[in-house]
Amino acid sequence: MAKKKSSLKGLGARYGIKPRKQFTQVHNILKATRRCPDCGSTQFGRQVVGIWLCKKCGFKIAGTAYDVKL
Ligand SMILES: [Zn+2]
Repeated sequence: MAKKKSSLKGLGARYGIKPRKQFTQVHNILKATRRCPDCGSTQFGRQVVGIWLCKKCGFKIAGTAYDVKL
């Protein structure tokens, strides 16, 4: 009889514990509230990978994939 494996949330059980922790950390960084360096609005976030955009004033900046470096 085969043993039943327990599935975990997020990426599933196939990647091991370390990548799953990193995934959670990256996800939290990505979803964190940021302020626009130009107008101070909190409607500032990642538009696409590497491009960060302020929805209020349209300020656009190049950052890294998961975080802004100013
Ligand atoms: Zn702005």
